[in-house]
Amino acid sequence: MKIAIASGKGGTGKTTLATNLAYFLSEKENVTLLDCDVEEPNGHIFIKPEWVTEEKCYLPIPQVNEDKCTHCGLCSQACQFSAIAQVKDKILTFPELCHGCGLCALLCPSQAITEGFREIGTVQIGKKNNLNFIHGKLRVSEAMSPPLIKEVKKQGKNRGITIIDAPPGTSCPVIQSIVNSDFVILVTEPTPFGLNDLELAVGMVKELNIPMAVAINRADIGDNRVQEFCAKENIPVIMEIPHSYELARCYSQGNLAVQELPEYKGYLQRIWDGVKKELAR
Ligand code: SF4
Ligand code: SF4
Repeated sequence: MKIAIASGKGGTGKTTLATNLAYFLSEKENVTLLDCDVEEPNGHIFIKPEWVTEEKCYLPIPQVNEDKCTHCGLCSQACQFSAIAQVKDKILTFPELCHGCGLCALLCPSQAITEGFREIGTVQIGKKNNLNFIHGKLRVSEAMSPPLIKEVKKQGKNRGITIIDAPPGTSCPVIQSIVNSDFVILVTEPTPFGLNDLELAVGMVKELNIPMAVAINRADIGDNRVQEFCAKENIPVIMEIPHSYELARCYSQGNLAVQELPEYKGYLQRIWDGVKKELAR
């Protein structure tokens, strides 16, 4: 069972929920937590895993053999990302723009394109008690995060429960993180910004045709417009967690609330019951 935890905007408490829920469930089940926020992974700060392996992740990029190239221009015409271009009698490649799809090599009539590799980041695998933890770290200045997210998900294939901490927002890295999930929990807060970004996130999850529910953090600080929106869209609100100084303290100190605040376990259990209820529909 793969449960993605996502949010239309950062700072809503998505990682707090993902790390605490994963740790809580791992007390009884086989659980893997994937931190797919590879541009800024921070789940490890709370889980504090013992690292077991670390592997570099590479993206295939084209290498052109000028001796074989006939300058037909097919490769540059086919590339959707302008990552290979014909300038007069030269073929230039732009590895930072390349998505590694391999189309140019496939089309080249002269077999002038071979596969090179570019390092985009690392995948680390660790363990904390019964919890398996995997995250990706994108290389500094690297823009191509979806292939690294894909690698994190590949390493995290697991028979038990997989909790996916998606990056914030609604762009390609988020879609790569949540695609093929069985359920998405959208974390939000009851503010105008929270509602606006929730609306965008709901549209994205609907497009992917994944069942979803909403969890509202700091539920007592805003208004009811998030609840009204969810009722109108027929999206269940599986948890409303009030603002808590103690919860904020746990987060700022890099600790898991589930280990320090007994009442937080009740919220997590109700969220999990809500997910199971929605999945059973
Ligand atoms: S591998 Fe794909 S993205 Fe990269 S240069 Fe070739 S066609 Fe473009
Ligand atoms: S498709 Fe092959 S032969 Fe044609 S321009 Fe590109 S590298 Fe050269």
